[in-house]
Formats: sequence, structure tokens, C-alpha cells
Amino acid sequence: MFFSKKEKKMGNKAPVSKNQELTVTIEDLTYQGMGVAKVEHYPLFIENALPTEKVMIHVLKAAKNYGFARVIKRLSTSDQRVELTEKHYLQTGIAPLQHLNYAAQLEFKRTQIVELLSKVHLENIQVAPTIGMDEPYHYRNKAQVPVRMVNGKLETGFFKKNSHIFVPLEDFFIQDKRIDEVIKSVRDILREFNIEPYDERQHSGVIRHIMVRRGYYTHDVMVVLVTRAKRLPMQDQIVAAIQAKCPDVRSLIQNVNQATTNVILGKQDKLLAGQNQIKDQLNGLTFNISPHSFYQVNPVQTEKLYQKVMAGAGLTGKETVIDAYCGIGTISLTLATKAAKVYGVEVVPEAVADAKLNAAANEIENTQFEIGTAEEWMQKWEEQGIKPDVIVVDPPRKGLAESLIESAVKMKPDKIIYVSCNPATLVRDLQLFLDQGFTVEQPIQPVDQFPQTVHVESVTVLKRKL
Ligand code: SAH
Repeated sequence: MFFSKKEKKMGNKAPVSKNQELTVTIEDLTYQGMGVAKVEHYPLFIENALPTEKVMIHVLKAAKNYGFARVIKRLSTSDQRVELTEKHYLQTGIAPLQHLNYAAQLEFKRTQIVELLSKVHLENIQVAPTIGMDEPYHYRNKAQVPVRMVNGKLETGFFKKNSHIFVPLEDFFIQDKRIDEVIKSVRDILREFNIEPYDERQHSGVIRHIMVRRGYYTHDVMVVLVTRAKRLPMQDQIVAAIQAKCPDVRSLIQNVNQATTNVILGKQDKLLAGQNQIKDQLNGLTFNISPHSFYQVNPVQTEKLYQKVMAGAGLTGKETVIDAYCGIGTISLTLATKAAKVYGVEVVPEAVADAKLNAAANEIENTQFEIGTAEEWMQKWEEQGIKPDVIVVDPPRKGLAESLIESAVKMKPDKIIYVSCNPATLVRDLQLFLDQGFTVEQPIQPVDQFPQTVHVESVTVLKRKL
């Protein structure tokens, strides 16, 4: 094994030991929002500690190359710190950046992209200031809340980060306030009818999760009761009680999940009342949303994100566009209003059904949606000789497969617009596009979709040179 001089001097042993107490100064913030202090070049990761702060710490773990510690006492305070009135959120991991002021959060997100680019010597690519929100709280239009028994009482809450410790909670801080209220109402109704919450260890009990979605413009609410049991006891009474207490619930669904995994939704849905979908709007278009479909969680910021995609595409009405990873067709339909033809592909069949319904609902006739993987359909479209002027990709965190990049390049689009929710895979994939004759001329645009959390969303416009 190879050791640098410094590591040799360290004698290959941690310079701190478990349970040691010492005073350090925080030098950096990891992409997960933890403070970093160095003791003889050995990094210690510390929750709730910001750069420049001097803190007295207790070492929790001292592995060979890094350790974890907890703050016992803060001796100096960063001017970017927000004093917390409630610690829950930070501890539970709902809002890991809550202690950093919002302007600094936006810069933290921009800097992550800048640093990743510089690591691969792409510092010539500019990154614009992150577009933030005026009110960066209570923005989420979707909640998935576990239901458990605590001291003999049915509770809704959250699991602490990296643990099985369940914390009952009523104000989720980043969720639409009406969603928090609906969760409380449903919780009270489940209590009233003595419904047994799920017990992980025994794999027993009835109700596992409550999922709630709410249309930002329509105010329509969807409630999904995720049950382990196939039958929901007192079903009629529960449905009637929810309808009476929450008249804005337009869709009430039971989802059965009998698996012992931590995947929240099972495959089987049963409509208990109302419709199978709720509606919402984005940039003036109407969208139907099913329980299994992906829908951006921050509607205010999604409108800004899509406007950036639209501006980047620069459509005139003549273009052919591909929207890979199209979900329920939100980007596809936005682009279709200014394009000749839009092809969308999406792997979740319910989402594709929603996309088709949404095209019809908006009287948009120049779209074609396919069920399948983006990888397989991009190749098919390439083989069929489709010549897109613009390709939009909006992949999950793992980014793009090399085969998809290959098909995209072969189709010779003028532009590729990359919407990314993970800067690490974005930068990895950008290198491949740059190697194959594309350039990034406009600054990458981060848009804060997830205030108070460490997630970084961005739009990059790639242009073909060759
Ligand atoms: N552009 C949409 C959806 C983005 S989220 C919007 O803004 O709402 C990414 C989507 O990709 C999800 O709907 C997910 O189901 C889908 N997906 C994940 N892997 C995929 C793959 N290999 N091929 C096609 N779609 C995929």
C-alpha cells in the first residue's frame, strides 16, 4: 500500500481516539452538510458545525483515515448560522442545512458544482448563482410519512437519519402546511378507529405509511394509505371520516405493500373514494398525477426550472425534440407548445398513461410517449432515423448510461439540455459529451428545488460544435 509522507508521519494511526474531547476549528462543509475539522490532516466529520466555527468536540468514532465527532460546546459562531428553535429537523435529516442561512445555502450548492468541475479541469465552465425561493420553507407538495406505535399511541413522524429511531412530528417544516394538517387529521381518524400501525420487527400491523400530495394551484389533495394488510378494517367508516374532515381530498387510495423492504409503495392500488389522480398546473399547463408517477416536489421552483429549459432550447416551432425520462410529460408538453414534434420516454407505465392524458387535457397533439427505458428508446429512435434538434435528459441521481450518451451523440442534435439532480454524475457525463464534440457556452444554472436540504438541481445547455 502506498502512503504519502504525511500519512507515514502519522504512523498509519488516527491522531485522535474514541471518546477523546478536544477543541477544533471547522474548515469546510461536506456535500452532505457536515462540518469538517482537521487534526494533523486527519478529517473529523461533525454534525451541526459550520466553517470558521471553533467547537469543543467529543470523538464518536476514530477510523483509520477519518472520524466522526459531536459538538459539546460551540466556542465561536459563524455569521452564516441560523439559530435553531427546534432541533428535531436537523437531527432527523429532514433539513440538514437548516442551520445555514439561505443565501449561504444557495452559494454552497453553486460551489459544489464549481468544485466538481475544477476536479476534472473544467474550470472554464461557468456556474451561475443558484436561483432561490423567496420563502424557502413549507414548499414540498408531497409527503410520505411512516406510521408507528409509540408508547401505545399511533404516531406519524420521521426516522432519524441512518437509523431506525422514529420521531413523532407534526410540523415538517418543508412540507406544504395543508399537507401537515391532512396528515394530522388522518392520524387522528386512524387512532379513533384503533387501526394498528405497522411493526417492522414483527412485520405485523395494518398501516405503514401515509402519502399525501397536494396541487399547488388546484389545492386538490391525494391521500394514499399504504397498508401491510390487504383489508383495511373499518374501511367505510375511515373513508367517510376522512371525507368529512378533509373535503379537499379528491383522491383517496389504499396501496397494499406486503414486502419487508423499505420501498414505500407496493404495486396494488385500491381506489377508496374520488379519482385515481389529482390535477395540478405548471406554467399554465394542466397535469394529472397518479400515485406512482414522479412529479417535481417544489412547484414554485419547477416553473423556474422549466423556464430555463425552455429558454435553453430556444425553440421556433419547427424543431423535433426528445424528452428522455419524461415522467408525466411535464417538460415534454411545455416544449411541445413551441416545437413541431416531441418524443417522450419513461419507464413507469402509470406515468406514461398520465403523460398521454395530459397531452389530451391540454389539447396538445404533437407528442408521442413510449413506455420503456430511455437507453433502449434512444437507440431505437436513432436506428429509426429520427433527427432531434434538441434532446432533454432529466435522469435520476445515477445519471446517464454511456450507451444513452452514445445514441444521443449519434443523432447529432444541435443541443442537449441536461437537467440534473446530482452534480457528481452531471460532471461525469458532461466530460463524455465534451469529448464527443459538444460545448457548454452558457453558465450551468443551479435552481434550488430543495431548500434546507443538500440536494443540488441544475440545468446545463450543451451545444454541438461538429
Ligand atoms: N422530467 C420529469 C421527470 C424527471 S424524474 C419531470 O420533470 O417531472 C426522472 C424520471 O425518470 C422518473 O419519472 C423515473 O421514473 C424515470 N426513469 C428512471 N429511470 C429511467 C430509465 N432508465 N428510462 C426512462 N425513464 C427512467
